[in-house]
Amino acid sequence: MARYLIQCDCGKQLPVEVGQAGGQVTCSCGAILDVPQLRKLRHMPVAEDKKEQAASRWSARHGLVAMSLLVIFVLVIANIWSMWTEPAVPRFEPDAYIHNVNDRLKTITPAEAWNLLLNYRLLAEHGFPLIDVANRPEIERQIEHRHFLRRWSWIAAAIFATIAATAAFWPAQQKTRRRGDKETRRTP
Ligand SMILES: [Zn+2]
Repeated sequence: MARYLIQCDCGKQLPVEVGQAGGQVTCSCGAILDVPQLRKLRHMPVAEDKKEQAASRWSARHGLVAMSLLVIFVLVIANIWSMWTEPAVPRFEPDAYIHNVNDRLKTITPAEAWNLLLNYRLLAEHGFPLIDVANRPEIERQIEHRHFLRRWSWIAAAIFATIAATAAFWPAQQKTRRRGDKETRRTP
């Protein structure tokens, strides 16, 4: 129940309830004060408990903001982790390959050289095989999947950021609620 403050000449403020409207209250200084009619009373300053209500409303908004920020934080961390651990498509490095071949040619036995020669003839007929990393398609699929997940994570983070910003900076919402309070108070 909302309580309003009436000012006594002694400087004290007395909290009165809506039910006391039009009646009288006695201040601790002994003065007897007239409580204004309900219509006027509503324009009096509000006692502490009303402010606490407003505060709890604020803390509910803060809770929403905090939750949204937490979700955003988790999404961002997950995305950073995803980028960090993303498998790279292994690259075929021709220099290293040639170096490897040269090393082998130095240590090769005559029999092996003969085999190589046979293979070289095959090579002359068929050309170079396309040298590539065997699991490239699988890795590319994984990367594609991660990109997809990350894209949606950023979108979700943006949505939660909008929720947080709305809860934090939308004053209209509070005004409407206050008006609602007054209307329910008017009925009894
Ligand atoms: Zn007084």
